[in-house]
Amino acid sequence: MRRKLVAGNWKMNGSRKNAQALVEAVKQGAARLKHVETVLCPPFVYLSEVGAQLAGSAILLGAQNLCDKTEGAYTGEVAGTMLRDVGCSYVIVGHSERRSLYGETDELVALKVAAALGAGLKPILCLGETLQEREQNITEAVAARQLDAVLKTVGVEGLAQGVVAYEPVWAIGTGRTASPAQAQEVHAYLRRRIAAHNATIAGEIRILYGGSVKADNAAELFAMPDIDGGLIGGASLHAGQFLAICQAAE
Ligand code: PEP
Repeated sequence: MRRKLVAGNWKMNGSRKNAQALVEAVKQGAARLKHVETVLCPPFVYLSEVGAQLAGSAILLGAQNLCDKTEGAYTGEVAGTMLRDVGCSYVIVGHSERRSLYGETDELVALKVAAALGAGLKPILCLGETLQEREQNITEAVAARQLDAVLKTVGVEGLAQGVVAYEPVWAIGTGRTASPAQAQEVHAYLRRRIAAHNATIAGEIRILYGGSVKADNAAELFAMPDIDGGLIGGASLHAGQFLAICQAAE
């Protein structure tokens, strides 16, 4: 039985003050949750403070990105060991905004997954097709290419240390959600592809859905057999919305 996971990706939003208020509200509401695993991924600069605020709660801390290198002269970068040092358990890797806006290739994403594992972090590996790719009917080929790059670098056992997040690019921040059936189709495909390497791992690995998940569509998405929770952007900035999504995963 795979435990559902809901992770909030705050992206580059908020301030110290509203981060504090948001965490407090989420912490209070999440205390009622027994089954779902909950993760908050604030911007780097707020990680320490959010981590301190989360101490004693069951909510875990995650970062939104990391460097593929372990240390050294990489101005502006943050190493996985540093993220561990401030209390992170998870790190988002290969988010579509990193791929499209900052030129992260499949190969770099794979190196980042390896760096996360090397630092003892659980990567949340994001992958998914653009609208153009969906219209060209190459959704599965794109997902396969993105997944295979990681499998080639860290192996299926490495992949098993983290989670996968299927995030169709056309659904991220657009208010346009994949239908439960559309999402399920890709999740099942990803699981089959992982099963070709190791059926046990395929059965155990969690595959999250991300893309305009809200309180009113979460339950139907999470009810699909291969959807094991969500990576939540916009709605994670509102405690009530985020908690309702966590509740749907309960
Ligand atoms: C995301 O950033 O990973 C995401 C899914 O964003 P949103 O929920 O806003 O579409």
